[in-house]
Amino acid sequence: RILQVSSKVNSTWHPASSFSSSSVPSVKLFIDGKFIESKSDKWMDIHNPATNEVIGRVPQATKAEMDAAVSSCKRAFPAWADTSILSRQQVLLRYQQLIKENLKEIARLITLEQGKTLADAEGDVFRGLQVVEHACSVTSLMLGETMPSITKDMDLYSYRLPLGVCAGIAPFNFPAMIPLWMFPMAMVCGNTFLMKPSERVPGATILLAKLLQDSGAPDGTLNVIHGQHEAVNFICDHPDIKAISFVGSNQAGEYIFERGSRHGKRVQANMGAKNHGVVMPDANKENTLNQLVGAAFGAAGQRCMALSTAILVGEAKKWLPELVERAKKLRVNAGDQPGADLGPLITPQAKERVCNLIDSGTEEGASILLDGRDIKVKGYENGNFVGPTIISNVKPNMTCYKEEIFGPVLVVLETDTLDEAIKIVNDNPYGNGTAIFTTNGATARKYSHLVDVGQVGVNVPIPVPLPMFSFTGSRASFRGDTNFYGKQGIQFYTQLKTVTSQWKEEDASLSSPAVV
Ligand code: NAD
Repeated sequence: RILQVSSKVNSTWHPASSFSSSSVPSVKLFIDGKFIESKSDKWMDIHNPATNEVIGRVPQATKAEMDAAVSSCKRAFPAWADTSILSRQQVLLRYQQLIKENLKEIARLITLEQGKTLADAEGDVFRGLQVVEHACSVTSLMLGETMPSITKDMDLYSYRLPLGVCAGIAPFNFPAMIPLWMFPMAMVCGNTFLMKPSERVPGATILLAKLLQDSGAPDGTLNVIHGQHEAVNFICDHPDIKAISFVGSNQAGEYIFERGSRHGKRVQANMGAKNHGVVMPDANKENTLNQLVGAAFGAAGQRCMALSTAILVGEAKKWLPELVERAKKLRVNAGDQPGADLGPLITPQAKERVCNLIDSGTEEGASILLDGRDIKVKGYENGNFVGPTIISNVKPNMTCYKEEIFGPVLVVLETDTLDEAIKIVNDNPYGNGTAIFTTNGATARKYSHLVDVGQVGVNVPIPVPLPMFSFTGSRASFRGDTNFYGKQGIQFYTQLKTVTSQWKEEDASLSSPAVV
């Protein structure tokens, strides 16, 4: 029966798919099982980053609409929490199938709204799909613990219960993957969920909500609102919301962590990054240079795990000219164009910010070896493009090193020893990801052991853990104590209940000490 489930998302209900130059479609809210037009008088335009054309508009949901969304989640919670775990698992099993069937359609929408290449957009959906698949193993993940006979006739056992209404606030850079880190894990545990996608890329979340509904999730178990600060404050303050999952910048994350915590909620906040790739002279040169180029410039550097800083150790310094040659070969184009390696940045403001940070490099004494600031992309002259840029002679006190650039810019530092490289990485406040490139196992082990970063790659440039593990960014890249997905994700979305029970043997029916 499950294999027969089928649902195709298409332009008959999704606004951005029916875009034409004569009309500007609006993105719907998803409240109590219905896709509804907001009554808001505050709307924001959605732009195609490759052209800056307006492709849709998204509302800032009104207070009444946001209240209706939370009430819907609250009403749906008791029945959903009581639904057998096997039934919730079945919904997720159908969901993973529908996401697979509609992967290309979701990716197409991501490229339209976010700008990344179609291949990257498909990867975005695929990495989210893996979390949905993982959530299907809830029957093992939610197991509790038991300790029989802690004293005469007394047993101790624990089990996990959902929290109630949970909420998610997502960034623009992974429109499918990051919402899919959140609501499937929360819902399979029996919670209901209020999702607020990034106002710049709301389309993928709406498609994903439609597919979840088609998978059999009851009305009210997922609600989607749109907005910016008011929606965020609403989520942080609302007494019926028990937990908040946030992914985005430090500015927003610190704020949400503090405001949400002050209102007694659990908050997990994945935030910004400055990820270092340490290149040892004994590394496999060919592989390493390819990996560095892909990880620094892929997705136009708009990945929280982009390898945005290279530390060349010892003789590896000599590889810099070859690195530049490889970066020059990357093709910058609109994300839906064949052969594009990287697309535009999300907004003109993001482009300006990235260019200013490159400027600061020259002003503070670094050298620009490859300059993508003035790139022109034929046919897309109004897009927010920045070409691959490499800044060398960078020192840790420079602005381009201290700031998260979030663009296709690789800053390069040099050291004579591994120990100096480790010190630079550990002195940096962020702890999202890092990688070492070496063919020496002892060097790799020393680095992995001593580096104070939550996710380490050994000859792997973007070490994002698969969902049976958890996403374990650390230090300034994370606030909270329980990470996203994996066993930690289940912990975040559940409360343990521990029962100590005594059933005296002498009270057992129809038994006597002689029989026993
Ligand atoms: P952002 O912080 O601007 O936006 C994220 C969300 O917060 C959006 O839904 C937005 O509406 C809301 N928001 C924005 N500013 C706010 C404010 N001042 N107060 C309250 N809410 C606010 O982030 P972004 O630009 O969409 O995403 C890029 C950032 O996300 C980068 O810093 C990147 O490193 C980070 N990121 C981190 C991870 C991770 O797992 N560590 C993953 C992806 C992205």
